[in-house]
Amino acid sequence: MDEFQLIDLIREMMPAADPDVLLGMGDDCAQLRVPQGWDLVTTTDTLNADVHFAASAPAPDVGHKALAVSLSDVASMGALPRWALLNLVLPRADSHWVLGFMEGFSALARRHGVELVGGDTTRGPLGITVTLMALVESGKALYRSTARPGDLVVVSGILGEAALALEWEQAGKDVPACLREALNRPEPRVDLGRVLGGLAHACIDLSDGLLADLGHVVRASDCAAEIYLERLPASRILRTLTDERRWRLQLGGGDDYELCFTLASEHERKLGDIAGDLDLPLTVIGRVRAGSGIRCLARDGTIFESGPAGYDHFQPQE
Ligand code: ADP
Ligand code: MG
Repeated sequence: MDEFQLIDLIREMMPAADPDVLLGMGDDCAQLRVPQGWDLVTTTDTLNADVHFAASAPAPDVGHKALAVSLSDVASMGALPRWALLNLVLPRADSHWVLGFMEGFSALARRHGVELVGGDTTRGPLGITVTLMALVESGKALYRSTARPGDLVVVSGILGEAALALEWEQAGKDVPACLREALNRPEPRVDLGRVLGGLAHACIDLSDGLLADLGHVVRASDCAAEIYLERLPASRILRTLTDERRWRLQLGGGDDYELCFTLASEHERKLGDIAGDLDLPLTVIGRVRAGSGIRCLARDGTIFESGPAGYDHFQPQE
């Protein structure tokens, strides 16, 4: 297989149908039409082998996750995903791996109406960069910088499962399928993001851990937040851990790809209907306050110190 055969293989797995794609894969550039009344929002993310995923991970899982992390960014802006660019760096022209990768990538793309419009294929240490373009109605995008004191802090889904899966995997433990799924096949909350546009005040997706990501929101919004630890949504498997261990994973662990948003408290009663419609738990976990920083409160009011928050690629890891 050479580079062009690999590109043909990718193209065959991503049929083109979107009338707003005036020109898709095959020329020097793609040409896209942004409909009137909409803004283009765009995001890019790189997954490096043995940093973001194990080089030995099943290729379909890598394909799924490579797109899912960008879909999650788009969800946090309240936008509708449309077009993707895919940059593949491959150690060798391994068509088997590329087919597997595209199986995961294209299945998720199809579910979200995303069309692949171009990319680049080069040789080097295994890594994937996905650039995703999305549309949002002008004036309806969600930001990190618009939380207001008094808002409720709400999260979708369950927090901490991906971090637990990673911890167990790295310790050589048997990881149950449901946990493995949380780590390798996150479900981006695009539908929730679309509902939150025009309703939530601020929104972010949880990729680096709740404290790190909510920290971005409070800094950008120039306010503070408190989190009520006993409300952090947990699954049965997380509840088998001690409170302290579970909270550490839920506050500091990354890779949840849930949405964290702030909402004026008068809208609290809408959460039940939205959760029902989307079949997705939505949990009020705290409040935005005036001031700065995040305080994590146990039921008895004691403050929980959870240590350094989030993953930083340029900090030495333990
Ligand atoms: P150029 O040399 O003009 O950059 P390439 O040979 O890199 O073009 O790519 C040829 C066409 O195939 C382009 O339209 C490009 O967008 C597309 N392409 C290349 N690699 C990928 C990929 N991994 N995924 C999707 N499209 C790709
Ligand atoms: Mg090129």
